[in-house]
Amino acid sequence: MISVVVPVFNEAQTLRDLHRRLADSLAALGPHEILLVDDGSNDGTWHIALQIAAEDPSVRLIRLSRNFGHQAALSAGLDAARGDAIVTIDADLQDPPELIPELVERWHEGYDVVYGVRSSRAGEAHVRLAAISAFYRLLSSITATEIPRDVGDYRLLSRRAADAIRSMPERARFLRGMSGWIGFKQIGVEYARDPRYAGESKYPFKSLLRLALDGILSFSIAPIRLVTGLGFALVVFCVGVFAWVLYVRFGTAHHPSGWTSVIAVVLLLGGVQLLSIGVIGQYIGRIFEEAKQRPLYLVDEVVDSREASDPRSASSSASF
Ligand code: UDP
Ligand code: MG
Repeated sequence: MISVVVPVFNEAQTLRDLHRRLADSLAALGPHEILLVDDGSNDGTWHIALQIAAEDPSVRLIRLSRNFGHQAALSAGLDAARGDAIVTIDADLQDPPELIPELVERWHEGYDVVYGVRSSRAGEAHVRLAAISAFYRLLSSITATEIPRDVGDYRLLSRRAADAIRSMPERARFLRGMSGWIGFKQIGVEYARDPRYAGESKYPFKSLLRLALDGILSFSIAPIRLVTGLGFALVVFCVGVFAWVLYVRFGTAHHPSGWTSVIAVVLLLGGVQLLSIGVIGQYIGRIFEEAKQRPLYLVDEVVDSREASDPRSASSSASF
């Protein structure tokens, strides 16, 4: 069975077309389920989702208790999916559902992770694309994990790959990095990314920055190494300056003058120290988040027309 997991946040306008295109693409693939994870929408998305589930028995719904974010919604879908292969796809039709048979074919060939590679991205601002591409270049240069470039959250995971990801307990979820980290046989499939079908991006620049930070800080300690190196270089530099001052004072007839240089050094050191504390603080904040061990998401409601006997579908406000 193929499961398709769709995180949905205020996508009322696209939901019907999404469902139609998904159903068309899945029809030839045998048994399948479509899991819509409503990430705390407030625009009538849930209402439409209920209608769709009433018409199509292969649709299952999960509503989270509030907006937990894209990565948490995806995780909720992975936890609930029952398929032998799980496809995750955005709800806004930027990733064409028509590609799913090709992903499945690669899976049949023996690949555990088949990810969609965006060969082009229409309808997104140049500044945004440039920032995203710079981020991926930076990320791959500082992390040991192989994280493919131009890859979003459109991918197929085999059952064991999905279970591997589910076994990773971290709160800061960066699924693109995590699915690279697990290894197994992986392959990319190229596709042209369409512009958003309707509505607007739920990733304003701020959330994108957050995701980028999650990516860097959860996959690398390069920032800590950087400030350590910086601190070391500054100590060496200051020892040199100090030696020079002593030499001028005692070795020559001059007195070293320079209120300016003193202030410059103080400011420089102050700045570097603040920066270093900030970087260390980022990691400590993350340790704090992980240490709390809160669930990634809470489920408000589950709708499953096929298996009313499933204990998970009967209970509301439970978490998987
Ligand atoms: N999404 C979500 N929760 C959020 C933000 C987004 O479930 O808090 C979903 C959204 O409905 C969409 C997917 O995540 O299906 C990707 O979001 P979006 O298309 O806005 O991101 P972009 O493509 O602009 O990066
Ligand atoms: Mg999108």
